[in-house]
Amino acid sequence: MWALQVESVSKSYGDKTALDGVSLGVREGEFVALLGPNGAGKSTLMQLLTGLFVADAGSIQVLGADMRQQAPQALAQIGVVFQQTALDLDLSVAANLAFHGRLHGMSSAELRERTQVCLTAVGLADQGEAVVRSLSGGNRRKVELARAVLHQPQLVLMDEATVGLDIASRQQLMQLVLQLRADMGVSTLWTTHLSEEARWADRIIVLHRGRVIFDGAPDALLQQTAEPDVEAAFLRLTA
Ligand code: ADP
Ligand code: MG
Repeated sequence: MWALQVESVSKSYGDKTALDGVSLGVREGEFVALLGPNGAGKSTLMQLLTGLFVADAGSIQVLGADMRQQAPQALAQIGVVFQQTALDLDLSVAANLAFHGRLHGMSSAELRERTQVCLTAVGLADQGEAVVRSLSGGNRRKVELARAVLHQPQLVLMDEATVGLDIASRQQLMQLVLQLRADMGVSTLWTTHLSEEARWADRIIVLHRGRVIFDGAPDALLQQTAEPDVEAAFLRLTA
């Protein structure tokens, strides 16, 4: 079963084509890395997947719900961490989560329980009352991850979530997402321009100039390009 199916999706900004007939999918429970250099179209795809923009052509289905016909059902199944941090810095961690939970129609009791579960999952159980501004960049990203899974979505979208973090925090964040998959069974689409992050994925999709130029397991990428590691393979494909 597919958590996400994208078929022949195109999107232009004026005469600039950002996505050109993109087809890809994420299976239930799968961790997929969408690897592409800056400008490849990763964030544009995320914006279509989260309903901020509508595709010029093609279709998007989330757990079988069509983004055009059944947007509320599709969006209810999605949790997202955007490339640009989107927290209210002057509010507490818990207040940021509460705002999100209410948008998703959660009751106060549900909100209390899920806030505890999700903050515990990201290692911030004792930080609920902390003002976001007082947290490190890495911890802010963890709060965004906790928020992304608060309403128990099946599909988590992470758009360059590790940008600006030091190596230790980057690895921690990825480990957390892998742990969430183990604990909550979420499927993940993780976009990055860093090949070292992609090698942890079940599958790598390489996006280049708005097109999918590779889709397969990390090993298959090495085989196809006859390169020793994902970084060299990625450079060869996007050269
Ligand atoms: P990525 O996230 O992979 O870096 P983006 O989706 O942000 O790529 O951008 C894809 C292409 O679309 C780039 O060439 C970018 O300059 C262009 N683009 C993105 N957003 C806009 C916009 N709002 N208006 C015009 N062009 C845009
Ligand atoms: Mg981007």
